[in-house]
Amino acid sequence: MKLNDIKAKYRELFVVEKAPEDKNKPKDVKKAVKDFWYGKPHEERRLGDLYVGDTGLYKHREWRGVKDTMYYFNMVWLYNYAHMVTDIMKYGDGTPKSVVDFAKGVMRYRWMGQTYLTVMHWFDRGMEGMRGEAMRASAWHYRGMVSESIRQFQRMFVSDKKIHGGKEPETWKKNIAHNETVGGSFFYPFMDELEEVPLEMIPYFVSVHVNSHTVLNYIDAAQSIGLPADPCPMCQAEYGLFVLDDYPDFAPAMVTSNEACDGSVATSVLQDWFLNRPLYALPQPMRYDDPLVQKHCQKEIENCWKFIEEQYGIKFDWDQYVKHAEAYNKLTEFEWEKWDVAANTPYYPISGVAQALYRIYYSQVGDRPIWHEMDEHVKRIMNKTVKNKIETFPKTRHRAIAWSCAPLYYSHWCTWAYNCWGINCVINMDSLMFDQYLRTDTYEHALEDLAWMNEKAPMRAMAVGGHEHILSLFDYMERFNCDMVIMYDQLQCKGMQGIHGVFEDEFRKRDIHAIWIPHALPEKRTVSRKEIRQIINDYMTTVMHEEPLDPTLVDFDDDKSW
Ligand code: SF4
Repeated sequence: MKLNDIKAKYRELFVVEKAPEDKNKPKDVKKAVKDFWYGKPHEERRLGDLYVGDTGLYKHREWRGVKDTMYYFNMVWLYNYAHMVTDIMKYGDGTPKSVVDFAKGVMRYRWMGQTYLTVMHWFDRGMEGMRGEAMRASAWHYRGMVSESIRQFQRMFVSDKKIHGGKEPETWKKNIAHNETVGGSFFYPFMDELEEVPLEMIPYFVSVHVNSHTVLNYIDAAQSIGLPADPCPMCQAEYGLFVLDDYPDFAPAMVTSNEACDGSVATSVLQDWFLNRPLYALPQPMRYDDPLVQKHCQKEIENCWKFIEEQYGIKFDWDQYVKHAEAYNKLTEFEWEKWDVAANTPYYPISGVAQALYRIYYSQVGDRPIWHEMDEHVKRIMNKTVKNKIETFPKTRHRAIAWSCAPLYYSHWCTWAYNCWGINCVINMDSLMFDQYLRTDTYEHALEDLAWMNEKAPMRAMAVGGHEHILSLFDYMERFNCDMVIMYDQLQCKGMQGIHGVFEDEFRKRDIHAIWIPHALPEKRTVSRKEIRQIINDYMTTVMHEEPLDPTLVDFDDDKSW
């Protein structure tokens, strides 16, 4: 390679060129010092210039001003990297052997090897352009998710027969595997004896957010053995893990479910074949506004508890249930506080993507100490923003609600939409599920509430739970003071496709600005991130007649990015 080529490559990878209009401007030292100290004003940031060519990867991280850059470096980068190491010890068996198990897991499982090192880029994408309290509060949400992810995969690895030469590690017998949409709350009565780990949560759900390439491999694997390509790609990816034998063998039994819809029934059937061990199917009822279905669902939960008692020789423990359900209720209480601030003030310090992912993650996983710790941090920040009336997203032009099932490979679209267009995604559909207390006064009430919870699992109620639930969008839109809808259009979701026309009619009738975002959940090859942005760009220019806040973010390609 010639010296000139090396120089050109260096410029392409590391040098951020000046904007054409700035090239011949005389130096303004006072402004340069101010920008250095406080960071540039939103409209002058040119965040798109930070990307390497068409990859969406950064030449370098943005300068957020001295205070915020230092915070990001210390409390987001260093803090999280340090904890990503210490959590590996903490959630392993507490000895250096945990690190060996972790290393083996990284080498053995593709979803692990391809995602661990890209975690901090996931933070960067989600928090791009953020400043002050919004950056801090959102970062705590990410920290919580990473810690819980480490708990899950470390428990899988230390107990995994596959990476221990086929032998059963001590902890294998003390784990129960379950489908990622079977809530952790169902296992509260057994928490002191049993460790529950959702089997697909990390290999499928988390991995697609952190590295959008990884999951494609599993979708292809599912289709390669002749399984149809038209069901929901979530179901395909989940059974693709089994086709490629890329799941840890960490538990003697499994509780599965139909997830949100019938597409996943096939996943459970295939999992049953591959796992070849005791499996209990805990269905989420398809028609649940019916008292008889409620009773049926309660019976199913009780049978699940019996299944656990028989398989593990342990007893249902009411005190354990009460302890964890009451702790979980504290998380719900704080969630309601957050919603109140989000709905009624401009002081809500959590970005759309942090809100959406954290909420779905913790409510699904159930009571764990890390969520309480994170909520304490966020509470302090939110109290400060409310008390001091700090406008956390000051460039908000539109308050949006996002509805239906989201593109998992582009959950951070809302960070981009705020930076580019001032669209602030205040709340989303999946955040609103599980909106209830778990009563602990009697066994009957506990069972009743758990049944409701099962019926409000992700997507179950508001995506495929009948039009009265799906159309609750309009009620929430009013409650959260939104003036715009981002309507996710999952092209392979038969439930939501069936009601597409009704939404079109309602938007027209109510004169609502709604932007339809087509996507295929984890499958980024169907509609790319760039195409999603283009749809929003077109709407904002042709319908809203608005100018972008940051023109460098309008058109770039990040298809090669994680
Ligand atoms: S996106 Fe639609 S098809 Fe896929 S699991 Fe959810 S409800 Fe079912």
